[in-house]
Amino acid sequence: MADGPQHMQFQTEAKQLLHLMIHALYSHKEVFIRELVSNASDALDKLRFESLTNSSLLSGNKELAIRIKLDKNAKTITISDNGIGMTRQEVIDNIGTIARSGSKAFLEKMSGDQKADSNLIGQFGVGFYSAFMVASSVKVVTKRAGSDEPAVVWESKGESEFTIAEADKTEAGTDITVYLKDDETTYTEEWQVRSIIKKYSDFIAFPIYLPNDKGTDEIVNQSKPLWRRATSEITQEQYEEFYQQVLGGYEKPLSILHNRAEGIMEYSSLLFIPSKAPFDLFNMERKHGVKLYVKRVFILDNCKELLPEYLRFVRGIVDSEDLPLNVSREMLQKNPVIDKIQKALVSKVLGKLKEMAENEPENFKTFWKEFGPVIKEGLHTDYENKDKLLEIIRFQSSMCESKDDFVSLKQYTSRMRTDQKDIYYITGESREIAEKSPHLEIFKSKSIEVLYLTDPIDEWVVHDIMNYDGKQLKSVTQGNLDLGELGKEEEAAKKESESKYKKLSERIKDILADNVKEVRITTRLKDSPACLVADDNGMTPHMEKLMKAMGQGVTEQKRILEINGDHPILSNMKFWFEKDSKDTNLEEWAHLLFEQALIAEGQMVPDPLAYSRRVNNLLVKASSI
Ligand code: ADP
Repeated sequence: MADGPQHMQFQTEAKQLLHLMIHALYSHKEVFIRELVSNASDALDKLRFESLTNSSLLSGNKELAIRIKLDKNAKTITISDNGIGMTRQEVIDNIGTIARSGSKAFLEKMSGDQKADSNLIGQFGVGFYSAFMVASSVKVVTKRAGSDEPAVVWESKGESEFTIAEADKTEAGTDITVYLKDDETTYTEEWQVRSIIKKYSDFIAFPIYLPNDKGTDEIVNQSKPLWRRATSEITQEQYEEFYQQVLGGYEKPLSILHNRAEGIMEYSSLLFIPSKAPFDLFNMERKHGVKLYVKRVFILDNCKELLPEYLRFVRGIVDSEDLPLNVSREMLQKNPVIDKIQKALVSKVLGKLKEMAENEPENFKTFWKEFGPVIKEGLHTDYENKDKLLEIIRFQSSMCESKDDFVSLKQYTSRMRTDQKDIYYITGESREIAEKSPHLEIFKSKSIEVLYLTDPIDEWVVHDIMNYDGKQLKSVTQGNLDLGELGKEEEAAKKESESKYKKLSERIKDILADNVKEVRITTRLKDSPACLVADDNGMTPHMEKLMKAMGQGVTEQKRILEINGDHPILSNMKFWFEKDSKDTNLEEWAHLLFEQALIAEGQMVPDPLAYSRRVNNLLVKASSI
C-alpha cells in the first residue's frame, strides 16, 4: 500500500445523496448534530455490548461518553466518542463506497418539503452524510476497539471522492471533525450547540460533554434513562422527544405504553405505537423496533423475541432485571423470561388497541389504515390471542359509506338482519372491484351487509376466523347460496326456474364443457344474466391470482355458471332452444354469458379475440338496416 493517502471514489448512490445533502436540503441543517451524536451513541452501545464477552475492551474503567469540541478560529465542531470505532475496511464499507440499502429508498422518498425531508435523513440510515449540509469538508479519525490495526483517517469534501490514510490515534473510538462553511459558523457557538443537543439528543443514554463559556466540560443532556422514571414525572413532550431521539421515530406516535413490572419478574417497558408505517414494513428483512436492555445496559437492537412478527411496527425499549448481562441472541430464543415478557407486552399492546378503537376512533382509523394488514397476520400465528384480535380487526363493507369507514365483526353481527344466519364477505383486489360484483345483487336488494376483503392476506384470514359469535363466514362467490328465511321467496322461484330451464342448462353445460363444471339456476342475481361461483371448498379466482403472484403453481379450477332465469336473455335463449336445440347461435350466446360473467368480476376472458368477434357479430346483426 502507498504511504500517502489513498484516493477512492464514492459509489453512485452515495454521490447522489451527497449532492442532495449539499444542494437540496437547506433548512433544519442543525439535524446533522443529532445524526452524529446518535451514531456516537450507537458506537458506545456496541462497545459496551462487545465488552460483555471481552472485558479487556473496557479496561481502566473508562467512562463511556460523547465529547463535543468547538473551535471558532478553525471553524470546526468535533464530535468524539470512545466507542467501538472502525477498521479501515469498516470505514470504507460504512461511510465510503458501499451504497447502503436505505440510500435508494431515501432518494425515492425525497419530496422537496424541507422539513419532511430532513426528518427522512434519520429514518433511512443516511445520517452521516448530513454533515455535508454545513461542511466544506469532514474528517473522521477512528480506531477499532480490540483490533491491532492502526487508526485511520478518512477525509472528504463531499464531492466524488474521499481519501483514507493511517492516523496515530491510540485510544479506541471516533472523532468526527466538521469543517464548517463560512456561513455556518453558528455551530461553533456554545449556546447554539447546547440548545440543539437539548432539542434533539437530550435522552441519549450516555453523557454528552460540552465545554461551557469558562472552558470546563459540562454534561448537557439528561442521560438518566427516561423509562426508569415515574410516569407522573414525564411530560407528553418528553415522551415524544424520546421516541424521536432514541427510537428514530419521525412523527408523533399514536399511543404510548409505559409500564413497570415488579414481583416475580422485574422489567420496565416503554412502547410506542407509531402513526405511520415505515417504508419497509413488508420487507422480510425488516428490523423489529424494540431494543433490549438488561439492568440499564443496552444489549440488542431489533429484538425480535420481545414481540411477535405481527406487532413488528411497535417501537420501544424493554429493560429487564432478570436476564444475565452476557445474554446472547441465541439465548433469547427459548428463554422463559423473554417468553413471559413477550406475553405481557402482547397483551398490553392488544389491550391498548382495543381501548383506542373504543375511545379514540379517529386515531384507531389512522392506525388501521397503516397497520391493519399486519395485525391480521396475528390471526394466523397467534392462536392464543385470537379472541382479542377478533375484537380489533376491521373490514370495509357494503354499508361503509367511504373508503375510510371500517366495520368490526361485532358491529357487523349487531346490525345483522333478523333471520340472517351467516356473515357474508367477498374477496377482491380493491373495494372498487368488489362492490361492483354481480354476486352482490341479491344482498343489495335485501340490505344484507357484505364485508369487502381486499387485503391480500384476507383470503387466509377468513379461513383463520371461520366463525365469529356462532356465525359462519361465508363467501358470496362460493358454494350454494342459502339465505334461509331471508331467501324464501327466491328459493320458491328457483325451484320453478330449475324445471323450466333444465334442458337449456344441460345444453349450455355441453357448449361450455371446457370452461365450467356445472350450469345451474341462481338466486344471487337481480340484474345480471349470469355469474360464476366456486365450489364450497374451491379456490376463489382472487386466491388463484394471489397464489400465482407468489410463484405457486395452481391448476385453474373450473367454476359453476349460475344463470338468472328471470333475465330476458335466458328466456329468449330458451325460446330459440325449443325451436331448434342445435341452433348455432346458442353456442355464441353461451360463450358470451360465460365471458361477460368473467368481465363483471374483473377477470380476463380466456380468448379476447374470439370474444370481440362474437360481440362484433352481434353488433352487425343488431345494427343491420
Ligand atoms: P446509520 O447510523 O443509520 O447506519 P449513518 O450514515 O449515520 O447511518 O452511518 C453509517 C455507518 O457508519 C453506521 O452504521 C456505523 O457503522 C458507521 N459509523 C458512523 N459513525 C460512527 C461512529 N461514531 N463510530 C463507529 N461507527 C460509526
